[in-house]
Amino acid sequence: MSESTPRAPYTTNNAGIPVESDEHSLTVGPDGPILLQDHYLIEKMAQFNRERVPERVVHAKGSGAYGFFEVTNDVSQFTKADLFQPGRRTEMLARFSTVAGEQGSPDTWRDPRGFALKFYTGQGNYDLVGNNTPIFFVRDTIKFQDFIRSQKRHPATGLRSNDMQWDFWTLSPESAHQVTWLMGDRGIPRTYRHMNGYGSHTYMWVNGAGERFWVKYHFKTDQGIDFLTQAEADGLAGQDADRHRRDLYESIASGDAPSWTLKVQIMPFEDAADYRFNPFDLTKVWPHGDYPLIDVGRMVLDRNPEDYFVHIEQAAFEPSNMVPGIGPSPDKMLLGRLFSYPDTHRYRIGPNYAQLPPNRPRSAVNSYAKDGPMRYEPSRASRPYAPNSYGGPAADVGRFGDPAGWATAGEMVREATARHREDDDFGQAGTMVREVLDDAARERLASNISGHLLDGVTRPVLERALQYWRQVDKDLGDTVAAKVGGG
Ligand code: NDP
Repeated sequence: MSESTPRAPYTTNNAGIPVESDEHSLTVGPDGPILLQDHYLIEKMAQFNRERVPERVVHAKGSGAYGFFEVTNDVSQFTKADLFQPGRRTEMLARFSTVAGEQGSPDTWRDPRGFALKFYTGQGNYDLVGNNTPIFFVRDTIKFQDFIRSQKRHPATGLRSNDMQWDFWTLSPESAHQVTWLMGDRGIPRTYRHMNGYGSHTYMWVNGAGERFWVKYHFKTDQGIDFLTQAEADGLAGQDADRHRRDLYESIASGDAPSWTLKVQIMPFEDAADYRFNPFDLTKVWPHGDYPLIDVGRMVLDRNPEDYFVHIEQAAFEPSNMVPGIGPSPDKMLLGRLFSYPDTHRYRIGPNYAQLPPNRPRSAVNSYAKDGPMRYEPSRASRPYAPNSYGGPAADVGRFGDPAGWATAGEMVREATARHREDDDFGQAGTMVREVLDDAARERLASNISGHLLDGVTRPVLERALQYWRQVDKDLGDTVAAKVGGG
């Protein structure tokens, strides 16, 4: 070894004790048997068997990076949230993902992409857990599990099944807007850097005077929108299944930090009651002509995680992490997600997941939570209950006592929202086809749909699919019918 070669550290076991060999088990004579007292060998085998946590049931394959969000425009008249105050710069983490595939699945399958953000604000973590699409397939959280199962694997064959997907979609017409989006160019982004992100749901903002607004978030990529054709994506699935993960990591490592400009649509609180669409329906957008985009700031991802498992696999995003100045809306998908995300983290990585490096708030945590598996942060409260007379934390009702909410009352029912019964499932999808796409994009849309339908979709489901597309747009439906040879 030359003098300039740094000496590698010596191997230890998990307790820091130097080990005797990286190469040989402890045996009785060179040919064995192996001895149970080789604690290091036992530790290696046992640790290896436990290296995986359950993969996420959705959004299993992901990639992410750290960065910052900086405010460029004053929106303090709409929200008092710490991270959106003028001049503020907030550390953050982003995780992008596919939805239906497993951890090893190709990055280039046609699928929406998760766009999950965690902002380490001065008043706790704010998580905005959106997608690269402003809409979703269903509008009531009770259908989410069914939707996902239709996208996952067939119980008998273990194969993904286009027949299951179209069966569910055509029996759930509220999916039409999102399926139109999915089958179009944006259904396979060129890279994670070349897609927009959306908060998707409507949220509430509350300003310092207690005034409430409804808000939708749009993160516009500064790299420009770009996509892969079906043929390009199919090729990459075989050549470089990790293409999007590789691209994100290598871009940041080379100093080419991707960025997104955050814009919001703001709806005055009172407008929601008689707006022409149900503003809380996750299958609908707010047309920009009604509520124009307002600049807020810029998000930059400039730091790769030093350990993928620690920082990205164990990252736990939850829409219920809303900070003062931000609240939920009556969107039934959002209200369901407020429960399901923290619940899945407790199952997947344990009840003390909030203490792990990617999830730990950078502001003070004065919680009364205690104990449980893998807890290592001692509680700051000397008495484990509130109120107590030993100086324990006490809620500051004067500052934080007003929940971001709305008035509601009524009989318990299982019904669609009453005020917007006239909303249809196909109108906004049709607008996209006729007014947003050009001829070439419409042709690719028809070709992507017909290719998908011709891959294992059975006759009655296929006939329903043609009806579905004719309701989105008559010409599109006829074109698809001609391509698949249907009636
Ligand atoms: P606008 O013309 O103001 O907006 C159209 C939007 O469509 C733009 O935001 C654009 O995003 C996006 N877009 C362009 N090409 C595609 C594509 N291939 N797939 C998906 N989205 C695309 O019209 P409106 O706001 O009145 O909306 C018209 C229709 O556009 C809606 O019915 C909806 O289907 C779609 N849309 C609307 C959005 C909204 O929030 N209002 C957002 C996304 C889609 P970009 O500017 O980033 O290129």
